[in-house]
Amino acid sequence: MRILLVEDDAALGEATRQSLRNESYAVDWVSEGERALSAIESAPYDLIILDLGLPRMSGLAVLRVLRARGDPKAATPVLITTARDAVTDRVEGLDAGADDYLVKPFAVSELHARVRALIRRRNAAASSELVHGRLRFDQVSRQARADDQPLELSAREAGILEVLLLRAGRAVSKEQLLESLCAWDTDISLNAIEVYVHRLRKKLEVAGIEVRTFRGLGYCIEKPQ
Ligand code: CA
Repeated sequence: MRILLVEDDAALGEATRQSLRNESYAVDWVSEGERALSAIESAPYDLIILDLGLPRMSGLAVLRVLRARGDPKAATPVLITTARDAVTDRVEGLDAGADDYLVKPFAVSELHARVRALIRRRNAAASSELVHGRLRFDQVSRQARADDQPLELSAREAGILEVLLLRAGRAVSKEQLLESLCAWDTDISLNAIEVYVHRLRKKLEVAGIEVRTFRGLGYCIEKPQ
């Protein structure tokens, strides 16, 4: 899962980015509204965390431009962050299409919970556990179990499994996997994605789950029967 963090406070931005990375999200961080819009243009995000109090172009202006787009990116969930006394900003933000808000200073655990909830809602999942036949994947602990036996997955393998489960029944291309797993400053190749998928496929055999390859389209885990 890939997140765009828009925050002009350097210390808060760095701390937020690091805490999200520790939760296995790929995070791109920008500190200006204009940069946020060009980032949204260049990469697919599962969520945008948007500070409303930004220099020059405000977070609210960014949100309005995003929501006015005529493509699927316009529907990317947005979590706004505001100062405690900025009630009007929060109301305006929600009216402009924000999905949720956090008041600064916020607890990191609450940020993580709201991020998980918004990503779940986007993927129409009811809980943080993804269940597929005999396989269960917990998006919080990042643990996969087959018939209650833990599967040893690397962080990358778990990330790929999560994307394929959330989009079960649809083919996901190598490029899409790469974009959802990697922030700008991480460099992994399409060949590496193939290697991760190959390993994941072997590990999923015990759960009776097949990762299918559709030539030219990508990978797919079929929906459970
Ligand atoms: Ca700010």
